[in-house]
Amino acid sequence: MTTDNSVQVSVLGLGAMGSALAGTLVKAGYATTVWNRSPGKADDLVAQGARTVATAGDAVRAGGLVITCLLDHASVREVLDPLSGELAGRTLINVTTTSPAQSRELAAWAGQAQVTYLDGGIMAVPSMIGRPGASILYSGSADAYQQHKPLLDLWGTSSYFGEDAGLASLYDLALLAGMYVMFAGFMHGAAMVAPAGVTAREFAAMATPWLSAMTGSFQGFAAVVDGGDYTVEGQQSLEFSQLGDLLAASSDQGISTEVVAMVQRLIQRQIDAGHGEEGFARIIESIRRPG
Ligand code: NDP
Repeated sequence: MTTDNSVQVSVLGLGAMGSALAGTLVKAGYATTVWNRSPGKADDLVAQGARTVATAGDAVRAGGLVITCLLDHASVREVLDPLSGELAGRTLINVTTTSPAQSRELAAWAGQAQVTYLDGGIMAVPSMIGRPGASILYSGSADAYQQHKPLLDLWGTSSYFGEDAGLASLYDLALLAGMYVMFAGFMHGAAMVAPAGVTAREFAAMATPWLSAMTGSFQGFAAVVDGGDYTVEGQQSLEFSQLGDLLAASSDQGISTEVVAMVQRLIQRQIDAGHGEEGFARIIESIRRPG
């Protein structure tokens, strides 16, 4: 990995994530200036070689490349709005979690202020930064992405989705949607076996290899969805996929049926529309068109 020593980097926001990002840059030898709203959070980074400054304006003026990792969109606007003049001509990479609309709004604001803008979505927790498994999604300025890719690659695997600044956030939130529904599925299973005296830890030992193996189905589903033909041979049909047994067993265990009932509703809408013999992947049509 090469370090471009001509790049002066400023990191605004030294929470758990901002500190991890800044620490990786300092370790790699980048001249790094850091700023945090509350004092005291820069001490470890300064000990490693970072420079700290008193105001966000000082940090922006110190860096050709400005990285923001603040709490949310509102805090980014609160910090950067008064600094649009100082930011002009610089590159801003914002890895704060935002919605696609907020990312686009910040990109438009940056465009008006003559700021080159790249948006980032972090698919990692702080301890993963700089290690295998960390993935960061980007969209916005292609030039900024190309120019700073050696730096971005220090944090994790970098992926770029295009000039529309909202795309990284869209992917980020879509991946998180999949994760949370999977987590809810795991919790449902754990609640289901609990009355039988099974601990969540015991259930996790079974669920981990099972759900990991099931992710192997994604590409097959994707091929059907992209092909748009849910009658392709070899698929499990919607009629076969009815979740009545899961719902009954959940009720018998005295637990909520909400998680499984949600999936059953998606299946049922397609069956009711006459597609019962088609493949399970067809539930995406229930999701695409809200009932
Ligand atoms: P923290 O809560 O640890 O840190 C939040 C940071 O934002 C602090 O530096 C805080 O400053 C600053 N901040 C909050 N409000 C303002 C404000 N109004 N003005 C100036 N500074 C402000 O959060 P993280 O570091 O964990 O997360 C930062 C971003 O990274 C978030 O958008 C988060 O969604 C994203 N992210 C985090 C992940 C994680 O696992 N931690 C994973 C993926 C993304 P102060 O110290 O003064 O309060």
